[in-house]
Amino acid sequence: MRHSSTALASNNESLFRFRGLAPSAVFGRMPELRGSRIHVSFRPNLTAYRGELLSKSHKGDAVYAGSFLRKRRIVLEEQMLRTPRVLERIFVHEVFHFVWSKLGNTLRQSYEQLLLSELRRRAKGELGWSAERIKLQLTPDDLRLKTRRWKDYMCESFCDSAGWFFGSSRRYSEMTLDSRFRDVRRRWIRENLLDRRLSV
Ligand SMILES: [Zn+2]
Repeated sequence: MRHSSTALASNNESLFRFRGLAPSAVFGRMPELRGSRIHVSFRPNLTAYRGELLSKSHKGDAVYAGSFLRKRRIVLEEQMLRTPRVLERIFVHEVFHFVWSKLGNTLRQSYEQLLLSELRRRAKGELGWSAERIKLQLTPDDLRLKTRRWKDYMCESFCDSAGWFFGSSRRYSEMTLDSRFRDVRRRWIRENLLDRRLSV
């Protein structure tokens, strides 16, 4: 049974301990989440460098956020506090890294089939730069051999799809996937995630 949206919002919100302002609008929109607490903090000038997340360093490339699944921590770029819709989308993206890690093979394989079918139909673009950046590097061998890069692409694409669907931006520059493919993703999320209780 689906919770009322207020109960759902407070149940989801209580899962996170925020140091800084929480993007409250998204908690009632996401499916019911369950798991132990995840700590969320904000840091200025985030960059990723050799697998590490740095703040106020001149090394690495600028990123919006980073997640630490085992430490149960999400770190968000402080500047996003000024752009609430970006913050929502990126926060959901990070939460769905936790969802993906516990999603199980059936749903992962189902999402993989969706992506393979998009690629067969030569779908360009994605719903976020995290996924698109990897998509642009994919080779036929990545798909055939199910390489690390393919697995990373699946995960980032899943998280970007969630950020797109559960966030409140209807249009943003990183939304480059064609509308007919967005329709298929929307349907997949509705059928597979929306009324499910998701472990994080
Ligand atoms: Zn990501």
